[in-house]
Amino acid sequence: MNRVQKIVIATRNKGKIKEMQAMLDDLGVEIISSEEISGLPEIQETGETFLENAIKKAVETAKYSGLMAIADDSGLEVDALGGRPGVYSSRYAGEQASDRDNYLKLLKEMENIPEQERTARFRAVIVAAKPDGTFIYAEGSCPGRIALEPQGTEGFGYDPVFYLPEREKTMAEISKEDKNRISHRGKAMIKLKEKLKEFM
Ligand code: IMP
Repeated sequence: MNRVQKIVIATRNKGKIKEMQAMLDDLGVEIISSEEISGLPEIQETGETFLENAIKKAVETAKYSGLMAIADDSGLEVDALGGRPGVYSSRYAGEQASDRDNYLKLLKEMENIPEQERTARFRAVIVAAKPDGTFIYAEGSCPGRIALEPQGTEGFGYDPVFYLPEREKTMAEISKEDKNRISHRGKAMIKLKEKLKEFM
């Protein structure tokens, strides 16, 4: 590690900022969020894949701020819905939809789908980019099932309806530390941190 003193987490999603800050804590560099970069324009997620969107967010933020930037793009893929909501997870119930609006829409759409066909996975791609536009990335996924009703108050997004069969709990019923160990984002971050040693 040489001159990099600060890394920007390129997201305005408070749930993700908290998780990623905890995961990057041991890097020994200062972690700041996009909100602290004054004038950073809103970055449109126009890509059709998690990777395209994550590259766009990380590279644009790094170029604008002059700092290394880390961005994740993530979402929920539900088998019975052909992989939806996928890259549209955050706006599934509309542009201004809340997390609750999104998961209630999902439960409604799936009300006639039996338990064994409710398989799903969270996926995340995390990109680290430098101001010169070069980047590295890593992916992670976390399998589970869509619950019949929401349970738990931890986490964010679809966590209350994402059931982990081996724990008999939803993602919103386990601790933050536990989620970071098993989640799509946690797994992708472990791989990214390995590559970061070289990249920084
Ligand atoms: P984006 O990556 O900011 O486009 O949004 C990802 C969206 O996927 C979030 O707004 C959530 O709806 C969903 N999502 C991603 N990761 C998680 C997670 O760990 N738990 C619950 N929902 C998630």
